[in-house]
Amino acid sequence: MKNPNRHVREFAGLAIFLALAAALLPVRAQKRSDTPSRPWMDKSLSPDRRADLVIEQMTLDEKIQLVHGVGMPRPSDLGQASEVNRLRSNGGAGFIPGIERLGIPDLQMADSAYGVTRGAAKGRYSTALPSDLAGTATWDQKLMYEYGSLIGRELRAQGYNMSLGGGVNITREPRNGRNFEYQGEDPILAGKMVAQFIRGIQDQGVIGDIKHYALNDQETGRSIGDARLDRRSMRETDLLAFEIGVKEGNPGAVMCSYNRINGDYACENSYTLNDVLKKAWGFKGWVVSDWGGTHSTAKAAIAGLDQEMPGSNFFGPALKTAVEGGEVPLARLNDMVHRILRTEFAAGIIDNPPATKVPDVEAGLELAQRVAEQGIVLLKNANAQLPLNASALKSIAVIGSHADVGVLSGGGSAQVDAPGGNAVPPAPTDSEIIPGLGRGATWYPSAPLKAIRARASKAKVDYDSGTDPASAARLAKSADVAIVFVNQPASEGRDLPSLSLPGGEDALVAAVSAANAHTIVMLETGGPVTMPWIDGVSAAVQAWFPGIRGAEAIARILFGDVNPSAKLPVSFAKSEADLPHPKISGIDLAPKVVNGRTQWPPFEVDYTEGLKVGYKWFDAEDKQPLFAFGHGLSYTSFEYSGLKVTGKEVVFTLKNTGKRAGAEIAQVYVSLPPAAKEPPRRLVAWDKVQLAPGESKTVTCKLDPQFLSIFNVDKNDWELLAGDYRVFVGGSSRSAPLTGTVKEP
Ligand code: BGC
Repeated sequence: MKNPNRHVREFAGLAIFLALAAALLPVRAQKRSDTPSRPWMDKSLSPDRRADLVIEQMTLDEKIQLVHGVGMPRPSDLGQASEVNRLRSNGGAGFIPGIERLGIPDLQMADSAYGVTRGAAKGRYSTALPSDLAGTATWDQKLMYEYGSLIGRELRAQGYNMSLGGGVNITREPRNGRNFEYQGEDPILAGKMVAQFIRGIQDQGVIGDIKHYALNDQETGRSIGDARLDRRSMRETDLLAFEIGVKEGNPGAVMCSYNRINGDYACENSYTLNDVLKKAWGFKGWVVSDWGGTHSTAKAAIAGLDQEMPGSNFFGPALKTAVEGGEVPLARLNDMVHRILRTEFAAGIIDNPPATKVPDVEAGLELAQRVAEQGIVLLKNANAQLPLNASALKSIAVIGSHADVGVLSGGGSAQVDAPGGNAVPPAPTDSEIIPGLGRGATWYPSAPLKAIRARASKAKVDYDSGTDPASAARLAKSADVAIVFVNQPASEGRDLPSLSLPGGEDALVAAVSAANAHTIVMLETGGPVTMPWIDGVSAAVQAWFPGIRGAEAIARILFGDVNPSAKLPVSFAKSEADLPHPKISGIDLAPKVVNGRTQWPPFEVDYTEGLKVGYKWFDAEDKQPLFAFGHGLSYTSFEYSGLKVTGKEVVFTLKNTGKRAGAEIAQVYVSLPPAAKEPPRRLVAWDKVQLAPGESKTVTCKLDPQFLSIFNVDKNDWELLAGDYRVFVGGSSRSAPLTGTVKEP
């Protein structure tokens, strides 16, 4: 039945609604007029112009907001991150709240050296690629671009618009716990590779980063150590890697490091930030501090730091006060904000924000395997021990390093979570915490034992854990070949105690190789190690931290489905006594506890070896390395001939003289005229050449005049000295079948 009062009630309701709407209207209209129209959304304007248009509308507080990071939304950091920001953050290491009223998005940053980190807790998956150093061992710039592109795609797919990858600290200290995140000891190789990594990331519409600027070449005392190095050496070594990375990779951000450089902290060092990075190299992006790497307000701001990340409070209210008091000019704050905003426009994160989606897992696995296959270095192969012949082998002993379940990965802030969890469950108690590694290293579920069994289906393949060398030797004795897996965990926050393999692994290899004359050693390490057993084994293979498809790649190399082509991007020393610093600086320092707080004494990391980094040291000091920079064997052989050198290029012929298809990474080194006072030779160019059996190709390598130059400190510029330049071409820094000379300039 109809209710006669219904219309009356409906009318009354409508009247109240209209009255309310009328009351609210002016407020909403007024709110709308508070929101400026957004002329900066005109894509035809330059990123610089668009940034300036935003800045015109910004309040002082909004500017401060953009230069002060509140990331790390973990319980321990709650003091820095408000609840709102915690909820807004995507869960990465870095978070900067955007300015909604102006349409400026939040900056969501994730560590992403060899894949996107910290996803597992949020149910996210990312591809764990082989370590960055393994990527560099491919010497393949196109592949490194693909490596970066995959990371960029997966960052976007997880809702991040900025990467914190791009580590390029050169390997001055081979025990540096982070070498696996970097690109080796040569500044030109490292710079070229990191540039492609960054380009790959940024081409996906994500802001890239290069780090840790600069001279953060060891983890020991990284926040207190003062790296001492003369300016010429700095520009020609560590900074050259960054220069190439910045100029060719064009990253949106540069992360300044924890350490001091010649007295001043890297994040308040006017020479490295203002004079070199911003003025000499013309860097237009912004400088972001490492986490807790800011040490002052005015000094850092004026020296060129643009954005402070969590762990300190110098760029929040303290910077506002400094600007209001004139200690830091408003123009400088505007410059910081301009650099951030122009980069956001240039990278496309404002016009085309990331949209979360399911990653292409298969594509990731395929690339991870390809990089591992191209990055695994065949160090030694006596009597053509490798490749193994699957149909001829009756028994194989697989020993050590948890090869029955997985492969090792690099730890610290770069750690990519293992899909499905750690293949080697962590130590059960907190008392076993290893700095940087928590309760144990992370192993990816890619089991070499399984991959070897699949490939050698007719052979009896048995496994021994390697914990008891005698038991491993017994198994090895009963088999046709023994494959010993060894490892050395590495992580941010600690250096390797030495270059020796840990946990009695040297004794294990010695025992196994004494029992079986066909012993192959497979190394899963972040970087170089010593090998006191090398003469007693028939083959040694450097697998690095080989990523989520490491086992499959290892098996394909062992059985010759892939012909190894990688070359070492770092020198392997015979002994630590042969290094410029037989001991890591600061390793013996003892902290003092003052008023309940641990204090470390300041100390210097004195890089007296200067220009002589890596192979340049071994060459200059006439020391024989265990394996030279650039070394790497193949299952085929190559012949170099017909060298022609002009001032602009080096041309030669490369022939595959063996029976298998293979690729050779042909390297060009140059000796500068004696007046240059340089180490004996430097890498200046290379090419990776694929050749069928019997095939020859003409190879042309261009010479970049800067790479033939020295840095003249008085002129504050690069200088190409006049004189004769000797050219060496070959398959490693210690093998040069072709030599020639060219006059420059
Ligand atoms: C590392 C950086 C990293 C940052 C955020 C620092 O400890 O040195 O490489 O990006 O943490 O996780």
